Amino acid sequence: MKVYLDNAATTPIDPQVVEAMMPYLTETYGNPSSTHAHGRMAKSALEKGRKRLANLINASPSEVFFTSGGTEADNTAICCTIRTKGIKHAITSPIEHHAVLHTLENEEKLGNIKLSKVNVDRNGNIDFEHLTNLVKQNPGSLISLMHANNEIGNLNPIEAIAQLSKEHNCYFHTDTVQTMGHYLKDVHKIGMDFMVGSAHKFHGPKGVGFLYVNKDLKISPFIQGGAQERNMRGGTENIAGIMGMIKALELACADIERHQAHVQGLKSRMIKKLKENIPEIEFNGNPEDEKNSLYTVLNVCLPESEDNDMLLFNLDLAGISCSAGSACSSGSNIGSHVLTAIGADPNRGAVRFSFSKFNTAEEVDYAVEKLAEIYAPVTQ
Ligand code: PLP
Repeated sequence: MKVYLDNAATTPIDPQVVEAMMPYLTETYGNPSSTHAHGRMAKSALEKGRKRLANLINASPSEVFFTSGGTEADNTAICCTIRTKGIKHAITSPIEHHAVLHTLENEEKLGNIKLSKVNVDRNGNIDFEHLTNLVKQNPGSLISLMHANNEIGNLNPIEAIAQLSKEHNCYFHTDTVQTMGHYLKDVHKIGMDFMVGSAHKFHGPKGVGFLYVNKDLKISPFIQGGAQERNMRGGTENIAGIMGMIKALELACADIERHQAHVQGLKSRMIKKLKENIPEIEFNGNPEDEKNSLYTVLNVCLPESEDNDMLLFNLDLAGISCSAGSACSSGSNIGSHVLTAIGADPNRGAVRFSFSKFNTAEEVDYAVEKLAEIYAPVTQ
């Protein structure tokens, strides 16, 4: 049996998305910047698509910029806000994705900003009081905090962070790559300044994403070049990818409650079965606190075992694709910066299972059965 449980890394493309992309790979191949009929057809599709996507997040089309994915969108929001607004201080957390963390750390290394990191607890929850103090001490900062953590699934209270940001004249960027298409987004209700999507995380194609920028903010482009994306991103648009992404987000949003119930059911089933089969099992993050945990991600913490190093390999041999990681041991940089930051024990193995609408209960049961077979605790 082949089981794909690595949907936080990437999701399989939905066949309906492939179908929606095909006309833009075959018939509508014009360059949207060309003024002739072929170009105009592509441009018209692109702009109608922008409107459809904007509707899904309650934004206006002028607030949506297509990018090559989440990494570029994060880099654009961060670097261009620092440059355009003359930001001298930024606030983030130690468990952000490297697309955010390395970008901010590089800005600090270049001497452009001072960077503060908000404390996180053993479960990966941010310390809101610490965040409030940092914001009060540094009004006008750039705040970059993700919606859900990609390794342990913790959800941040982005509405409350947006409110705090507004009260202290800060700019709030939130990396929503792992939650786009999994929770409905209303940019007005949430009130963030920047939000990010990456199509391949919600059954769309790879190499395409978008950045939402609040219309009250004007930032300079990240990629210099032609006048595409209203002078905000040079480069010929990946029109087939963009049309696929829009279709993927429409499909996700149209059926969000049914998918959430199905996928949450799989995650809860896995938690229950793992506890029954491996009583020593623990979890990283808050997986049993459904309101504060992304329903697609389950990070399993295995007790010390001689076989932990071979875990991923053995799961792969059993036909199960998932991700492994453990905290970095002292002095080493190898391992997960997220698990290290929350103080996870480096001797314990960690496996991230992540689910999608295409997974089944049988697949979950098979993964639990194989994990229980492979896992052999160190006997005292
Ligand atoms: N941010 C988060 C939270 C992610 O999980 C990822 C991808 O894993 C990214 C950003 C980067 O997105 P992309 O692969 O589209 O560059």
